[in-house]
Amino acid sequence: MNDKIYRADLSKMKAWIEDVPESWNSLGGRGLTSAVVASEVEPLCHPLGKNNKLVFAPGLLSGTTAANTGRLSAGGKSPLTKGIKESNSGGTSAQLFARAGIKALIIEGLPENKNEFYGIRIKKDSIEIEKTSLWGKGNFETIETLSKGNEKCGVISIGAAGEMKMAAANISVKDPQGKIRSLGRGGLGAVMGSKNVKYVVIEPTENDQVYVENPEKFKEAAKSFAKALLEHPVSGEGLPTYGTNILTNVLHEAGGLPTKNFSTGNFDGHDKISGETMHDLIEERGGKVKHGCHPGCVIQCSQVYNDKNGNYLTSGFEYETIWATGANCKISDLDSLAYADHLMDDIGIDTIETGAAVAVAMDAGVLEFGDSKGFVNLLEQEIKNGTPLGRIVGAGAEVTGKVFGVTRVPVVKGQALPAYDPRAVKGMGITYATSPMGADHTAGYCVTSNILSVGGYVDPLKKDGQIELSRNLQIATASLDTAGLCIFTAFAILDNEKAMEAIVDMLNAKSGSSITGDDVMSLGASVLKMEREFNKKAGFNEKDDRLPEFFSLEKCPPHNVIWDFTDEEIDSFWNF
Ligand code: SF4
Repeated sequence: MNDKIYRADLSKMKAWIEDVPESWNSLGGRGLTSAVVASEVEPLCHPLGKNNKLVFAPGLLSGTTAANTGRLSAGGKSPLTKGIKESNSGGTSAQLFARAGIKALIIEGLPENKNEFYGIRIKKDSIEIEKTSLWGKGNFETIETLSKGNEKCGVISIGAAGEMKMAAANISVKDPQGKIRSLGRGGLGAVMGSKNVKYVVIEPTENDQVYVENPEKFKEAAKSFAKALLEHPVSGEGLPTYGTNILTNVLHEAGGLPTKNFSTGNFDGHDKISGETMHDLIEERGGKVKHGCHPGCVIQCSQVYNDKNGNYLTSGFEYETIWATGANCKISDLDSLAYADHLMDDIGIDTIETGAAVAVAMDAGVLEFGDSKGFVNLLEQEIKNGTPLGRIVGAGAEVTGKVFGVTRVPVVKGQALPAYDPRAVKGMGITYATSPMGADHTAGYCVTSNILSVGGYVDPLKKDGQIELSRNLQIATASLDTAGLCIFTAFAILDNEKAMEAIVDMLNAKSGSSITGDDVMSLGASVLKMEREFNKKAGFNEKDDRLPEFFSLEKCPPHNVIWDFTDEEIDSFWNF
């Protein structure tokens, strides 16, 4: 079966299906979205203008029976960083795309009529642009409405933030229960909003399935891969029990939990918002401790978090969200963080960028650190309604810092730093500085060796070995993102060579190729270089690979460390 490119042009109001160019055949996920952006998007274009494109692509292994391969990548030029962007997420759409033979969906152009709003409806062998009256509705209502009578359909949608083209707007992806996972970072929701596209619906047809050249070999490799995931202590035990929020106490202990807008690495309220506390509350209230964001996830780091009365409050309640809205804003009320998470899902805004922007606003005195009601009010009244203050915060941490005259603004390439202080977890600092995506923990997750001693140990407080660590992980991650693998498969891959062997075997069994582990790594390196090349053409240079000055001036307690890499050391990252 030959996969196809599905394309919708909002300028021409036309949608069609075309063959996949040969050079894209061996790509999927991030490798493919970045290749499309690199070849079809003018690097100097306005991210919200007619020359930007929004690309969705399932990974190379998505839609197969292999565990944890249901990631959907979205790509485009980012309104937040002004560089190339890939963001990926779970949910059901990647598997539905892959099974329908959709290699990628490319949305381009801008509609002439600014007052008409659209959805894109796709299934195997068909794509249509349709008018919609769902503009103005929240993500939950949008997903529910579109799923009526068609529970199994996939939905990708934007909320109020995307409609208002806020630079922190994300894109929501329906999960197996009709709730939300997010293509979180870089403001791609604003790109979708700029095209007046509210949603993409993918309707499965009965016989949709991914073609596998050698099913027996694939089955064997998939079994070995799932076994490696389940045998690893982090992916087989820690994540399924406590979710990603297992990291709150771990990072607090390590002195790398950014607190009060990156003022210190410890949070005295850490216990109240920790994974352990959350686990007990979920059990007490009849929620779900383990939950997969897509069918076939054997790790199940997600959960269902209920309120005090046992009613659903949120799911996919991640460490990074709990940190951004919790420790970073000095809020230690888990229920209020869960409510904020629910609101941000409905509004469709990145929790990391929003938490970081609110902490910057708190630094400026716009509201007090620890003011959980003020935070919720900012979401419900200001951002959702697009008031001037809401639009400032919704534009992200950098804009918020500029507007309020704050000098301590934790961003790289315009994107807020996530939940690991770069002074105390130095490998993460190298990833934040050098990733073409802007500050992004998933681009090269050095927490593995810096904090969790997975794949060896590199002292998080020292500079030695960090550049090599970040480089290896960024290259490997670009490969995993291309295959459609969840980042949490990396723990097993780093500690058990059978996991990597199984990935190579699955790729070969699926397409009849004979690539090696080295080929997989070379693919990751070429994706990374292609993304950097786009950014250079968009006007970026070495100076954009730097952390904000305050990290070199202010010591981070309790270790009292500063960011001390020289420019030359950082630039040596790209020597490969
Ligand atoms: S481990 Fe977590 S993020 Fe990864 S696929 Fe499973 S639920 Fe989704």
